Amino acid sequence: MPTKEELIQRWDNFLTKIENRFNESLEQAEAACLEQLQATDYNLYTVMGSMQGIDAQLRNLIKKIDETWHSTVQPEMRFVGDFWINEYHKGIELNEKLYAVHTKFNRNLEYKLSILSYDNMMLKATKYINCAQCNAEVAVRLDIFRAQYLTCKFCNTVNTFEPEINFQMLGWSVVDNIATVRAQKEYDAMNNALELIGSYRGQAPADYWDAYKKTYNAYWEKYFHERIKLNAEAADRLEADLARKKKEFNSYEQIQRN
Ligand SMILES: [Zn+2]
Repeated sequence: MPTKEELIQRWDNFLTKIENRFNESLEQAEAACLEQLQATDYNLYTVMGSMQGIDAQLRNLIKKIDETWHSTVQPEMRFVGDFWINEYHKGIELNEKLYAVHTKFNRNLEYKLSILSYDNMMLKATKYINCAQCNAEVAVRLDIFRAQYLTCKFCNTVNTFEPEINFQMLGWSVVDNIATVRAQKEYDAMNNALELIGSYRGQAPADYWDAYKKTYNAYWEKYFHERIKLNAEAADRLEADLARKKKEFNSYEQIQRN
């Protein structure tokens, strides 16, 4: 029968093996996604689909910690002595660590893929059209993902330019992904403030609500402004977007505080 020391050693080895395999899987997943992005001529939707499959694999690997603990490790240890109580936390800690790494990994990879897609879109985007009237070159605005009406500066004819459907669709989603990551710091601050309020179960002091409101506004302002940098159209919506977010905040506050 294995001794206490042997069982602990075996458990430690198992956890190390899981962590190593997890890290290797992340590296492989990133390489595969970047490769697929190029192979599919920057079809972000296809790659995002693959990411979901990889996600499931990684989650299963994390689950193995708990499964193995309950099916094998704990029963064996319990048979030898009480020390198993002190060993369980190692599994929980690794579980939490890998979960956090996984979340961060997804966010960063999505960001990387989005930036690459955005750059590629800009590279391939139609930059000039020829005026229907005089054939002169008319410049197209690249950071607008819908139809544009472009006035020829030679003959004043208004030309309509319609970007490819692919360009129109990707425009918003890629831009949203990038803006989300660039506003991450503000998002975390907002979330922390919200969690503080949550811990009071409807009885949070007024200054907690003030703090939340401040971080909430800071997040949405940052997010919308990051979006405008990449998509000029978003500028036209800024006021309406902010007003909508303000309204959402007010109704949330009203429900929570009454
Ligand atoms: Zn013209």
